[in-house]
Amino acid sequence: MMPLPNHPAFSRSLRSIKGVGPQLEKVLFRRGYRTLGDLLEIMPARYQDRRAVTPLMDLKPDMEVLTFGRVESVRQGRFPKNGRRYFEIVLAEGRDRLAALWFRMPAHMRHGIKPGMSFLLFGRVQEYQGRRQMIHPEMTVWSEGARPRPEVRPVYPEFDDIKPGQLRRIMAEVIKELAGLPAVFPLKWLEAKNLTDPMACLRTLHQPPADRAGPLPLPRNSKAWRTLALFELLFLQLTLARSKARQVGQPARPCPPDSELARRFLSGLPFQLTGGQQRAWEEISRDLSLPRPMNRLLQGDVGSGKTVVALAAALTVVDSGRQAAVMAPTEILARQHYQTLRPYVQALGVPLGLLTGGLPEAEKARRREELAAGDIRLVVGTHALISAGLAFQDLGLAIIDEQHRFGVAQRLALRTKAERPHILVMTATPIPRSLAMTLYGDLDLTVIPDLPSGRGRITTEVLPPEERERAYRTLIRSVMSGGQAFVVAPRINAGEQENNSDEDLTAVHTLSEHLRDKIPSRFPVGLVHGRMKAEEREAVMDDFRAGRVRVLAATTVIEVGLDVPEATLILIEGAERFGLAQLHQLRGRIGRGRRPGRCLLIAGQAGPEAMERLTIMARHRDGFVLAEEDLKRRGGGDLTGFKQSGLPPLAWARLPEDLPLLLRARDLAREIMEPDPQLSDPAFRLVREALDQMDGRLQTHLADVG
Ligand code: ADP
Ligand code: MG
Repeated sequence: MMPLPNHPAFSRSLRSIKGVGPQLEKVLFRRGYRTLGDLLEIMPARYQDRRAVTPLMDLKPDMEVLTFGRVESVRQGRFPKNGRRYFEIVLAEGRDRLAALWFRMPAHMRHGIKPGMSFLLFGRVQEYQGRRQMIHPEMTVWSEGARPRPEVRPVYPEFDDIKPGQLRRIMAEVIKELAGLPAVFPLKWLEAKNLTDPMACLRTLHQPPADRAGPLPLPRNSKAWRTLALFELLFLQLTLARSKARQVGQPARPCPPDSELARRFLSGLPFQLTGGQQRAWEEISRDLSLPRPMNRLLQGDVGSGKTVVALAAALTVVDSGRQAAVMAPTEILARQHYQTLRPYVQALGVPLGLLTGGLPEAEKARRREELAAGDIRLVVGTHALISAGLAFQDLGLAIIDEQHRFGVAQRLALRTKAERPHILVMTATPIPRSLAMTLYGDLDLTVIPDLPSGRGRITTEVLPPEERERAYRTLIRSVMSGGQAFVVAPRINAGEQENNSDEDLTAVHTLSEHLRDKIPSRFPVGLVHGRMKAEEREAVMDDFRAGRVRVLAATTVIEVGLDVPEATLILIEGAERFGLAQLHQLRGRIGRGRRPGRCLLIAGQAGPEAMERLTIMARHRDGFVLAEEDLKRRGGGDLTGFKQSGLPPLAWARLPEDLPLLLRARDLAREIMEPDPQLSDPAFRLVREALDQMDGRLQTHLADVG
């Protein structure tokens, strides 16, 4: 994301750029570049150092340099091995020599090169059989009077149908356009913070000054790039802070503390809240009692008991006369929540409803009417609950479960709803701090650090395919002694091209057949995957929950939230194909009761990297540790949570490496916004415009997400 407001010059057509004709325009169009502004996304991959001309005597292998010399000899030859032709000249200065080779050179050029002439070469020095040479150097006639202008030349990514020089000249034109544009941030502020304006950074990045000494960094590591990364993160932080500020500025009706309903619910539980749950509940009920909307993220590892806390919050809001909604990312989870909550909620006499996309139309219509009329006080559903057109009588609290499937954009949209409800986001995905700050910078954070006591231990083993038999024997023993087990495969169907596809247990269909062969038939095996009809899948899940199905062959549809305390074993086929965060979620399906759990990871064709990942799984149970490892391995940009976050992808910053920049960005955002939450200071007009455009993009994104 470009940390700049969209200047009118950016929407100019490519053809208006000097050097872009119809042919080049077509090529650029094909690559998605339509305007001058689009071209700003192209960044140099490295620099050529053309600041000085190095004499032949100073050349060392691997230097990329400008050098010059007089032609001593010229010859054409053939390589004895492959018969390829080459053209070679040798430059000499005093006792030093440099050979230059070309494998293709047009005859007219060859004929223009004669011994005694002087040339300037640019290329990389190699040492070959004891002599120094350059392959295909750039070459121009040299004379002392015509020394080239010192230059740090950007090298752009190679496009096979655009000459590098052509792209460089176009980019130079684009950067020229930037020269006239005003700084984005007020100069005084920049000076005080010792920062360079993003507009100037962008110019420097493409055309670094040639008068600075010292080695050249890679563009990525240059000060200009790092500063752009800081501004990119600053814009994200400002967007989130502004959304939060709008929210905080809004009055909300406080809920009276010590709700009778919540108290009755909590005291009726068959267990004591853990210390973490207790603290979380106190923070949330304090939020609810304030005259401004709550915006809180409740983070707790799988099984830490977030649902209880959320329900207490919902009951507090219901008690105050308003409605509450619990939203889950999938139908399965919505139904599971509904079933878990129903006994408690009904016992308290609170009208509860379920609304998911899978319900028959007539029923959905009825549910909507009941919500609008206020006959339902607590509703459980999928994220579709916030879809346009759904009216609540008076929505006071929106609880969003398993946030990482739910985007920032949706959250911003929820806040623009007329009622401006309290928002409680729950996530079991232990998001690394760096990511949490980016995605949830607009939320206050509550962490439940502990698990309810008496949870069974989980042992995790990584097994090579040769030991698969042993894994299945363990599984069968566990089932025969009364347990329930998940068996997970990464895919639904066996791949067509892959060999031995009848025994390909990484496909859940084959896997379930395999299980039915192995396991005595009095222990039924169920099968669920994402391409089944919702009702069929629900029916199997219900059977598993009720213990009628003892072994569940599944894809990752079971990844999130499925709560079956009797399940004590999970066997994962093709474990190397999953990321750490995903494996952690899958493993979180077991060890939810008191009995010890067992997780068996079968590593199919795991390379050393995958093996290391699986070993980390076996060693750690702490989701935060695993999430950090996952982020380190896969990089911020690839993290699924990140992709689904509804944020524009980061172009300049890298996480987690840039955590220090993120921290600085957060502090800067705070300093800017605290005295001026709406950013109405005229000096920050361009920043505000850029943020408005970002909001617009998020809204567009939201429309795409549907
Ligand atoms: P998650 O945080 O993963 O959403 P849940 O809210 O689904 O966890 O809780 C997991 C299980 O732990 C549920 O069966 C729940 O009833 C139980 N539970 C919640 N809190 C406690 C507690 N304090 N002591 C014992 N069991 C608890
Ligand atoms: Mg949960």
